[in-house]
Amino acid sequence: MADQNAKQYVVDYEGFCPVCENTVRFRSTHQWFRDNLICPACPNGSKPRERALMLAMKQYCADWPSLSIHESSPMDRGASIVLRNKCTNYTPTHFFPDQPTGKVVNGYRNENLERQTFADESFDVVV
Ligand SMILES: [Zn+2]
Repeated sequence: MADQNAKQYVVDYEGFCPVCENTVRFRSTHQWFRDNLICPACPNGSKPRERALMLAMKQYCADWPSLSIHESSPMDRGASIVLRNKCTNYTPTHFFPDQPTGKVVNGYRNENLERQTFADESFDVVV
């Protein structure tokens, strides 16, 4: 007798996650992989674009933990957590349009990407 509660995965495979650096099973019950193919081992999960980011970082900026990185609009999961925890010069920002830019708001520096207040050449990498 078939288990009526068994999940029907549209994708189910083993792979390497470049964010948490674990071999995991990637599964999704939804065909919209962009938001549903989550790494089960990453802190709070990671989405495919975050894994692509970390692959690119490792390929093009292998020394990224020692670089100056600005991440706009970080999330409380996956790649943002890894960048925050491993990069010694990491600057996360969010944009709060009704607050002054360059100031800390809700724990984040307030920056408008179209009019940043950072000095020129402040960062090696901008995410
Ligand atoms: Zn992961």
